[in-house]
Amino acid sequence: MERCEVCGLAYHRLIRVEQDGREHLFDCFQCATAAMAPSCGHRGAKVIGHGMSRGIPLCVRQVPRAPKRALAPTV
Ligand SMILES: [Zn+2]
Repeated sequence: MERCEVCGLAYHRLIRVEQDGREHLFDCFQCATAAMAPSCGHRGAKVIGHGMSRGIPLCVRQVPRAPKRALAPTV
């Protein structure tokens, strides 16, 4: 039986996540977040709800303080 790559729990219904062509296995969303979510540069908090701006992870405390041009789409 395969194991979660974070906590090592053997589980028959692991979550499979592919990133950059590599598959990762987790038993729960908490372990997937711990391994894969980027950290903000402000407090090191995992960023799972707000995302990136120009390649920089922004946590909930940084978004209100970020210059508007930093939050604009880069497309
Ligand atoms: Zn786990």
